[in-house]
Amino acid sequence: MSCLKPEGAQPGGLNEAGLDFNPADIMEPRKPGAIAPDLKNGGRVKTNDVSPDGVYLPDYNILTPHRRSPEDVQLSTAAAITLGITRGKMHRCACTRCLNLLLTYPEGCRANCAYCGLARHREAERDYADRNFIRVDWPAVPMEEVASIVARDGAASPFHRMCISMITHPRSDEDTFTVLKTWTDKVDPNDIPISILSNPTTMTREDVKRLHTMGSDIFTVAIDAATPEIFDRTRGKGVQSPHNWKKYWEILLDARDIFGPQKFGAHIIIGMGETEYEALTLVQQLVDLGGHSHMFCFFPEKGSLMDHLPATPRDQWRRVQLARYLIDYCDKRVEDMTFDGHGRVADFGISQAELDVTIDSGIAFRTSGCPGKFADDISACDRPYGDSPPSNIASYPFQPEDVDIRKIRSQLGMLRDGETYEEGEDIETIHG
Ligand code: SF4
Repeated sequence: MSCLKPEGAQPGGLNEAGLDFNPADIMEPRKPGAIAPDLKNGGRVKTNDVSPDGVYLPDYNILTPHRRSPEDVQLSTAAAITLGITRGKMHRCACTRCLNLLLTYPEGCRANCAYCGLARHREAERDYADRNFIRVDWPAVPMEEVASIVARDGAASPFHRMCISMITHPRSDEDTFTVLKTWTDKVDPNDIPISILSNPTTMTREDVKRLHTMGSDIFTVAIDAATPEIFDRTRGKGVQSPHNWKKYWEILLDARDIFGPQKFGAHIIIGMGETEYEALTLVQQLVDLGGHSHMFCFFPEKGSLMDHLPATPRDQWRRVQLARYLIDYCDKRVEDMTFDGHGRVADFGISQAELDVTIDSGIAFRTSGCPGKFADDISACDRPYGDSPPSNIASYPFQPEDVDIRKIRSQLGMLRDGETYEEGEDIETIHG
């Protein structure tokens, strides 16, 4: 069996270099520019010092209020819609199952990751609370109010999980404990399990222990870059950012010891210049340690230092999604797969019949992350359109239907005999 395209370009298949994968040499971030001293560290927000008043919907045409954690947090647009504090509809999704919370400060995140909309280099251009992150806005709200709304429904809440994203800030360790306490004072962690998306750069092993003792269920580390070189280029010295590969692994291994098997994991972004072999070797390493990988498809986030670079071609993304699912949930191993000279998956190491069953179930192509209440391999954290537009979905935030599976098969170069997929057919089928 070969996964290479039989002929012709498939939908979403080639990047601007005409390749079906993003090689390292084209994925070079821009360098961050200089920032005027009065705009550093949230200077504009602190000077204006506008008092917060209820929910703040990001709007860079008005003065951004001065809000900070632990009293306030930001939450994803999908979570805000599901919570009922903002109006809106999501393409083919009734709600999200994960309440993603983000610590917030006028100074924002002090790191400068090249692919991230929250990065420090944006200080001059946009206040922290107004910045887009994984393609969407993040409204700011009082934490007490969020916990109170969810507490009313308890276990019957649409949310299957709550996750605190710590960001990088001198106060983020201490404030995460307080936000967590505000939550557990009102919501039983047995009703809605808690995940922590950590900030290893400022953390100690004691912090990891404390988060576990306080009721957190899963601890994740956003390694994001699949190799030490790409890590350094996109989130370390290459972009004047404080992160360090070794420190991230230290905290990941602490989490393995403290949270235990299946209760820790790492985020990996695919398409930042790593080979498929490198990414899948990391996936295997995490499984061998007892953890999971949560994957994101690289998307050039507007305003980031990588917004001029190509999104991950769907061919590459689908191959890695499929192989990652086989390793994470089907006991397949990277050593049994074969790779071509560019490190692309050339053979998944199982029969076509077995592969067909996995592809047709569609789960491998759904958003990956911490589990909800449906099944261990179905993520609560569905992040609707966080890594792609709805017109060319990378991670499906819903169960893919027949037309979606044909699209995925066409992207993998694995349409069955007589099967077809026309570009845009998924949108037409759904909207008539
Ligand atoms: S630490 Fe996280 S939030 Fe901060 S810039 Fe990096 S990826 Fe973005």
